[in-house]
Amino acid sequence: MRKRIVAGNWKMNKTPKEGVELAKEINAKVGQLKDHSVEVILGTPYIHLMDVAKSVNPAYIKVAAQNCAAWSHGAYTGEVSAEMIRLAGAEYVILGHSERRKYFHENGEILNAKVIMALENMLKPIFCCGEVLEERNAGKHFEIVKTQLEEGIFDLPEEDFKEIVIAYEPVWAIGTGVNASPEQAQEMHHFIRQEVAKKYGKAIADETSILYGGSCKPSNAKELFSNEDVDGGLIGGASLNADDFLGIITAF
Ligand code: PEP
Repeated sequence: MRKRIVAGNWKMNKTPKEGVELAKEINAKVGQLKDHSVEVILGTPYIHLMDVAKSVNPAYIKVAAQNCAAWSHGAYTGEVSAEMIRLAGAEYVILGHSERRKYFHENGEILNAKVIMALENMLKPIFCCGEVLEERNAGKHFEIVKTQLEEGIFDLPEEDFKEIVIAYEPVWAIGTGVNASPEQAQEMHHFIRQEVAKKYGKAIADETSILYGGSCKPSNAKELFSNEDVDGGLIGGASLNADDFLGIITAF
């Protein structure tokens, strides 16, 4: 059975001290749950990783970086390598988020190099894809997402692909308060799973976790997660509050 996952993306929020406090609060609340079958991931800024990883029970909370370098090491001022991230205690790395594509001009080629670097260092990529509003209005959303998958992850060998988590994040829903409808989410998730099946076969497609991201909150998570092909969420704003995040973790 494929994993159900709720991953928080803190973006550039919380001081290191506040981050540890939030992680401890989430850890305490998740610790009280009877069912730990949902994988909970905290995607923190780089400098929070080590302390947050030490503040949570690794049996039920994992830690993610929000980016990694496309190179292994060397003269790349300001960059952080996948190896450093792994050794800081992270198990996952979010790659291809629309904010990285937009503000840092990360294209398919760069993202593919980052995915490969992450996998070489035993970090599991949470690979984001999704269309902007103009693309959806023009009926190009399937084509856009397919291209993002082809450029970023569809050249991976089967063994590596099995480590990938996909996050469908329609850009028009991120941070806007307007989530995709459950039907829109299911339609795209089903499409993504079919594309994975065409490339890697049905068995692997059935095991691939596909998360929804974009204004997911406790009040809409249940409806979104109840869809056959929606295996959880990548959560921005609502992951910054322990009660809201818990409301989403328990929404399956
Ligand atoms: C995100 O940035 O990954 C995201 C889904 O943000 P929000 O939940 O705030 O829309």
